[in-house]
Amino acid sequence: MEKNLLGKYSIGVGDRFAHQAEAQLEACLLAAKHGVEVIPVWNKSNREHNIIGSEPASVRSAADSAVRKLSWTKPYHVDADHINFETVDRFLEASDFYTIDVADWIGKPASAAQIEAFATRHPELSTRAAAKYLAAVTEAGRIYRKIEAAKGQGNFIPEVSMDETDSPQSPDELLVILAAISDEKIPIQTIAPKFTGRFNKGVDYQGDLSKFSEEFSNDISTIAVAVEKYDLPRNLKLSVHSGSDKFSIYRPIREALRKTNAGVHLKTAGTTWLEELIGLAEAGGDGLALAKEIYVHAYEQREALCAPYAAVIDIDPHRLPAPGAVEKWTSDKFVSALRHDQSNPAFNNHLRQLLHVGFKVAAKLGRRYLDLLEKFEPVVARNVTENLFERHIRPVFLD
Ligand SMILES: [Zn+2]
Repeated sequence: MEKNLLGKYSIGVGDRFAHQAEAQLEACLLAAKHGVEVIPVWNKSNREHNIIGSEPASVRSAADSAVRKLSWTKPYHVDADHINFETVDRFLEASDFYTIDVADWIGKPASAAQIEAFATRHPELSTRAAAKYLAAVTEAGRIYRKIEAAKGQGNFIPEVSMDETDSPQSPDELLVILAAISDEKIPIQTIAPKFTGRFNKGVDYQGDLSKFSEEFSNDISTIAVAVEKYDLPRNLKLSVHSGSDKFSIYRPIREALRKTNAGVHLKTAGTTWLEELIGLAEAGGDGLALAKEIYVHAYEQREALCAPYAAVIDIDPHRLPAPGAVEKWTSDKFVSALRHDQSNPAFNNHLRQLLHVGFKVAAKLGRRYLDLLEKFEPVVARNVTENLFERHIRPVFLD
């Protein structure tokens, strides 16, 4: 049981090409050295598997082998990220964490009888919010029970996510959602609401910081209330999706955690792939040449690459450097444009977002890409570890 109880602080790490599990785990080891337990959760979605051409078992084996090699003795998990009823099957064997994504079901009609039953059970809650979320929670229950039938109760960590939608959920709506989740008997340990503001891929938060802080604190209080009132797991906490690189909200998150003693799960998937590119560019030679080649292809295919991510990127094509210019860049110039250091005037967040969604280009290169990752492993690994530890774990969990 212990094994499948998610710790107070956890970090979702994505390892698209299954080469960085050790470098990522190294960041959690650094946190442990600083006296804070941050549990690693390797997550990969069905869409990523399809783009890369990988299977969930590869995430499990990369995680297991990193844990063995670095003698990590604390828990760790493998997350079937953003699964639904149709896509969960291939993850049933390898995962012990399931991000049950029901965002598409928000606003679908629930039956009058269902809404009435909810209102009778929870006269204190808004039936309007119930009408909006009941169908989604019912679907989450159906998916949860499919996983439970395969894995057995208590053998996995369920998360319910509603983040991939346009409008944020208020703390009041969150309470309704949690009550409904309790009625569905889903022992959720993490909940991923959509927060206010924009969580673009790989770049900083865009939005009203004070509004975010207030909402985040209220969500924490709401969870505490729901745990008591609706008998949900005591370790239930917020999960922040697209959480990598949101530097400006880390301070408010840290303060809210400190004030309330709450935990959090921070998902940082895509940032690691960008560190691979930074490492290759920093290595120079054929590493830099390949990083440039990937940019040039990504630039040429930018419309197709961006289309599936339109809601979570803001790229101004006029701010993207022309391929001809990038081809002449030094290693330092490439690294400065890509590395997420907002104090560096050469940093270009348009290029960074494009490359974030450009991993498909590297996937197509196949062995050519992987061979160079292996050739330049030390410099790549150093960037991966440093990024996770210094720019993510430290501000959110330590400082
Ligand atoms: Zn998400």
